[in-house]
This record gives sequence, structure tokens and C-alpha cells, in this order.
Amino acid sequence: MTFWMKIKQTLRSLMNGRHGPDQLNMVLLWVGMALYLLAAITGQGLLTLLSLVIYGICVFRMFSRNNAKRYEENRRYLVFIGRYKTKWKQARNRFRMRKQFTYFKCPSCRSWLKLPKGTGVVTVTCGKCHNNFTQKG
Ligand SMILES: [Zn+2]
Repeated sequence: MTFWMKIKQTLRSLMNGRHGPDQLNMVLLWVGMALYLLAAITGQGLLTLLSLVIYGICVFRMFSRNNAKRYEENRRYLVFIGRYKTKWKQARNRFRMRKQFTYFKCPSCRSWLKLPKGTGVVTVTCGKCHNNFTQKG
């Protein structure tokens, strides 16, 4: 057995049954690194401490044997971040299509609606809450 194979096997047995890296851990790693760099630039000791705490959480999560709890944390993080990703995508799409459509919010439920440009004043029924109101397209 070569030296590298021994190291590989040792690492594999060390991580056996442990949670390992996931999306939340990767974000914690980057946030910790960013805070550490910010601390180095500004000279704030508190930021260094905060980055160390974040790294501590990261290491704890990676070596944790409570997989169910770590999966649940990661799932909640993905749901949270997914909501912002969707909002960002929708805003980008509205900006791209701004010349073809007039975008407006339903006065009742605040959801986004659109009309083709040049439609004129029409009565709109919201698809979500079925509220009727007049809107210029
Ligand atoms: Zn509505």
C-alpha cells in the first residue's frame, strides 16, 4: 500500500458516518473567509472572533454524526435561499421584458401581474386572489 493510499483510507475511515460538506457548510466557509479578510483589513478583533465561531460551526457540522439534524438544517437553508433566488429571477425577467409588458402589483394580494404594452385601460382579474381592478396596459 502506497503512502497516498494509506492517507486516503485514513481520511475515509475518519469521515465514515459523519455528515461531511454540504451547501450550508460551503456558504459558512466563504462567509467565514470573507469576515476573516475583512478583519485583517480593518483590524477589528471582533470580526476575527466571529469568523472563528463560523469556522467552528462549519467544522462541527462537517464532523457531526447527527445526520438527520444536519440534513434538516441544510434543507431549511436551501428553502430560504431558494425564495430569494426566485425573487431575483422574476425581477430580472421583468426588467428584460419591460418593453413588451407593463408590470404592476395586485392592490389586494401584492402579487405581480403583467399586461402587453398598448392594451389600454382594461379590467384585470388577479389570478391569485380573483380581485377585479382597472389597469392601463
Ligand atoms: Zn391578487
